[in-house]
Amino acid sequence: MKKLIKENRISIIIWCIFEIVAISLFISTSKLFYLLNFTYIGTCVSLGILMMKHKLKYARNFVQIGVGLYMLVFLGIICRENMQLEGFWYYLFLGVFEAATIHYFVAKIVGPLIFGRGWCGYACWTGMILDLLPYKVPKGERKKIGWIKYIVFLFSLTFVGALFIFKVGNLETIMFYSFIIGNLFYYALGILLAFIFKDNRAFCKYICPITVFLKPMSYFSYIRVRCDHLKCINCKKCIRNCPMNVDMLDDSRKRKNGTECILCAKCINECPKNALRLNKF
Ligand code: SF4
Ligand code: SF4
Ligand code: SF4
Repeated sequence: MKKLIKENRISIIIWCIFEIVAISLFISTSKLFYLLNFTYIGTCVSLGILMMKHKLKYARNFVQIGVGLYMLVFLGIICRENMQLEGFWYYLFLGVFEAATIHYFVAKIVGPLIFGRGWCGYACWTGMILDLLPYKVPKGERKKIGWIKYIVFLFSLTFVGALFIFKVGNLETIMFYSFIIGNLFYYALGILLAFIFKDNRAFCKYICPITVFLKPMSYFSYIRVRCDHLKCINCKKCIRNCPMNVDMLDDSRKRKNGTECILCAKCINECPKNALRLNKF
């Protein structure tokens, strides 16, 4: 039993973290939704990590689909909660502590201090589709157009701000349709860019406004890929296979594209010398 717990401690720790959040929110809000929501997500993530440990090929896709579809279809479409950036602004301006606000604080603002951009690697419903496209390893150099994400970020803020300033009615309906239209637009643009740049994650690198939160917070991430330089033979297979162009051989926080790491573990699995690992675990 002890051995089983030791071998699976990462999954157990992650599940416990989600349960702490689930129970805390349930007690503080008396809403059963939070208990079920975070228990479901925590169970998906823990099972996925367990599957990854046993080197099951589609483990990460399993988590992405389990969490991504739940958020997109159940929370976004059935419950009509705008889970995109516009939804975050909307509920923030209303002063309502609802699913979208909590989701942003947990997954994209405070959470990245612990698990970096794990959201992007395991839960995002846009990343879920982009990762199924053919260019899993980017062909060619990174483009210098990352500034676009700041414009999209400002556009999102201005759009929701204007709805409040001009006292537009039917805000719930507008938010619902902006969620549907926004997602369709993001999917179409994400797929188009993947084929133009031959890079599945081009949308994440250049367009996604959420990275304006994710990048600075994940700079301080507790969980990071670390290299054991005594084992490393400098073959660079890890760098060649990284979907986000990260230089994981540099252990410093200032490593090239360090805030792009989505903790997908591809570099770790590709290393012939077992020289890479996630620190602290
Ligand atoms: S960068 Fe944006 S679109 Fe890409 S996985 Fe992260 S949140 Fe999703
Ligand atoms: S794949 Fe492994 S051995 Fe090769 S450079 Fe990367 S860490 Fe070093
Ligand atoms: S391959 Fe490694 S460095 Fe690159 S995103 Fe995945 S975990 Fe991060």
